[in-house]
Amino acid sequence: MSGLYTCITCRVGFSTLDLQRGHYKTDWHRYNLKRKVAELPPVTADTFQQKVLAQREKAIEDEEATTATCEICNKHFNSKNQYENHLKSKKHKDVVTKHTSKLREEIEKNKEKITENAEGTDNSDLPENEKRLMKDCVKRKHLKTKYQLPVVRRSS
Ligand SMILES: [Zn+2]
Ligand SMILES: [Zn+2]
Repeated sequence: MSGLYTCITCRVGFSTLDLQRGHYKTDWHRYNLKRKVAELPPVTADTFQQKVLAQREKAIEDEEATTATCEICNKHFNSKNQYENHLKSKKHKDVVTKHTSKLREEIEKNKEKITENAEGTDNSDLPENEKRLMKDCVKRKHLKTKYQLPVVRRSS
């Protein structure tokens, strides 16, 4: 610390009273005051500057985030309204229908793969409680199918 006048909060020194007074009005000083309340150490003017810049960039990003994208159709929209209109459009609904049926196919395929793999997996390296949890799941699955069976059974 140097100078006759100091700011204890920011741990800086000033050569004149005016400079010190001016400093008390800066955002940097206010920011450090808030940090002090939160029991955090003060940041230097440089760090504060960087934080401000980062904040600005984030604000720009947030603004960009308000523009919507339909990931299914891979289309970008400049406003939420445009996006909502697109969601209602037949074109989008067609794509969604196609997309979901394709997704379902993929899920079914993966399911088959998962069950195939599950048969051969050894759970010995799992912790005891996790093993038990898995057993419970399996049990529950069995119970479910048991109770569901009479419903799907066809009366002959
Ligand atoms: Zn200060
Ligand atoms: Zn779409």
